Amino acid sequence: MGQDLAGKVAIVTGGAGGIGRATVELFVREGAKVVIADINDEQGESLASELGESAYYRRVDVSKADQMQALVDFTVEHFGGLHIMFNNAGISGAQHARFLDDDLSDFNKVVGINLFGVMAGSSSAGKYMSKNGGGVIINNASIAGLLPGQALMTYRATKAAMIMFSKSLAIDLAEYGIRVNCLAPGHIRTSLTAFSMPGMTEEQIERVKQAISPAFDSNQPLKRHGKPDDVAQTVLFLASDRAAQITGVVLPVDGGITAGDPVNH
Ligand code: NAD
Repeated sequence: MGQDLAGKVAIVTGGAGGIGRATVELFVREGAKVVIADINDEQGESLASELGESAYYRRVDVSKADQMQALVDFTVEHFGGLHIMFNNAGISGAQHARFLDDDLSDFNKVVGINLFGVMAGSSSAGKYMSKNGGGVIINNASIAGLLPGQALMTYRATKAAMIMFSKSLAIDLAEYGIRVNCLAPGHIRTSLTAFSMPGMTEEQIERVKQAISPAFDSNQPLKRHGKPDDVAQTVLFLASDRAAQITGVVLPVDGGITAGDPVNH
């Protein structure tokens, strides 16, 4: 165990499950205090109680700007500051394998969480950090925001937009000592990659999986599915002073998918 984040305070949105949970656990092991922001109260509270005084769970819907501002205010009050904002919460949406089959009924929900949520979190955290010695904002995009493909097109669009937003924000906030970077995970085994969002039938889930099946068959250079901790370790690096000269990048954590055959993603 290192102490790369000793004395640091972090917020992890979507911290109750998957990649967010792995990051919360790693951040605490590395000495940080962490506020877990999520809408899954059961998982969030159970994780916070496992981690003791170093973590606190707060119910927050990232798509609501007032809740994100209240989250930052609470964190500063509870743990005495805010140094790291990991905008991680995201959903795939109940989308079909082909765009013309989509009814766009959850378009606004996906945009609200995946894109607006990141902007709201960056705004509230950035305002605090800009007046308090800087900080680090890390936004969880996806290789789906780098590579085109069938299926999940709203998801892809939100992730691509998030990447451009983050790069631009990195330039805008640099003068305050705030670094802004994006991650682009590949295929990581979590509840998100089950693609079983509420409202989808078994047939729809199967069609989405088939549309992206090559990658799910581990047809990627490193020949294994990623784990939440693979991503968490990268978030830790970007959050730590080891990455002090890195801002405005999008870092794939994808087993080499984006370096390879553009058909298999
Ligand atoms: P997950 O479903 O396991 O976890 C997502 C968490 O976000 C859950 O705890 C959920 O309750 C929470 N959440 C959902 N809506 C929320 C809201 N409105 N407000 C607050 N919290 C909310 O998924 P994951 O795979 O860990 O995904 C985390 C992030 O990683 C997402 O942004 C996702 O797009 C991205 N990502 C995942 C993969 C992958 O293969 N799993 C690949 C690329 C990118």
